[in-house]
Amino acid sequence: MGSALEGCRFVYNKEVEMCRKAYETCGRIFNRKDIDEYCEYVLKLDHPRLNEIHPDCISEVSNRVAQAFRKFESEMAGGLSPELPAFRGPDRYASFSFIKYGGNICLIGNRLRIISIGDVKCVAHRSFEGHPISCTISRSSTGKWFATISCVQQSIPCKPSADKGPVGIDLGLYNLAAFSDGTVYDNTKLFDRMASEMVKIQRKMSECDTDSDEFRKYKRRLCHLFEHYNNKMRDEMHKRSTEIVESYSMIALEDISVKELIHSYHTSTGRRNQYSSAWRMLVEMIEYKAVDSGVQVIFVDPRNTSQICSRCGHYVRKDLGVRVHSCPACGFCVDRDINAAMNILNRGLGMQASFSGKGNSQFS
Ligand SMILES: [Zn+2]
Repeated sequence: MGSALEGCRFVYNKEVEMCRKAYETCGRIFNRKDIDEYCEYVLKLDHPRLNEIHPDCISEVSNRVAQAFRKFESEMAGGLSPELPAFRGPDRYASFSFIKYGGNICLIGNRLRIISIGDVKCVAHRSFEGHPISCTISRSSTGKWFATISCVQQSIPCKPSADKGPVGIDLGLYNLAAFSDGTVYDNTKLFDRMASEMVKIQRKMSECDTDSDEFRKYKRRLCHLFEHYNNKMRDEMHKRSTEIVESYSMIALEDISVKELIHSYHTSTGRRNQYSSAWRMLVEMIEYKAVDSGVQVIFVDPRNTSQICSRCGHYVRKDLGVRVHSCPACGFCVDRDINAAMNILNRGLGMQASFSGKGNSQFS
């Protein structure tokens, strides 16, 4: 599998090189057909060993390159100045895919049969739901291999929810999430522990020569740590998002990209990145699980939700360190994050009433 992955990376870099040259010399963006032809009539002839890799996998690589250049083109058209798609080093290319599940790749008992590679012993974490269509083989930073099999479902079951009505959720740095009904998820210990362990390893790495065995040992340890916490966080977010979707009939959330922009001025990069990835993971999971459950998700503008009084609308200015909202106009006193969650709910209900704005989301 390692050599198939390396072969795909080689094709990716060669195709990127060809597309970059075409753009730099004559300003032309190659499309999927051009890339396929280059691969078939130039690359494979120059490098016959590429014929050992299944055409499905090569075709998917060409698709990735075409997508990267399409994104580049649309960003240019949007007035941005994006960088040309980059070459991928060995650490930056981690997966290859079979676009059709079945003859070329299939799961037989506890073995994954991969054409031109053979049978690979594996642990199946869950059974198929629906009809399998494609398979992606990926290698984690610690060298573990995973196979992700995508399935399509004919009909989506609609789960009944224990209806506690609509809710607003504030995603924060102090509490991971605070709810308008007073519920609080405090997951910050996980991040703090991870941050302090990472800092310790990074400090040791900075004292080593980058070409030494010692440095590589710490780098491996850092990758293991990162993978371990990522798995833990994913597991935690799965539990939380299921709980949320099964409990409420409408979920008002903050528009994360706007929120990240606001917080980028206030928080150190490392800590903010950890929170941003946790927020994103939670929001994405809530979004797709809500579709299955017939729960509506509404995204609202998060600006000033922590400053405005959710009861009377008075603007009560407070710094990040002030944890309690206490309104001098109406006397409302509540945890800062819960007040923000109430504002998010109010905005969500306003948008629900008008059915307008971004993220007017899903009904099953
Ligand atoms: Zn008030």
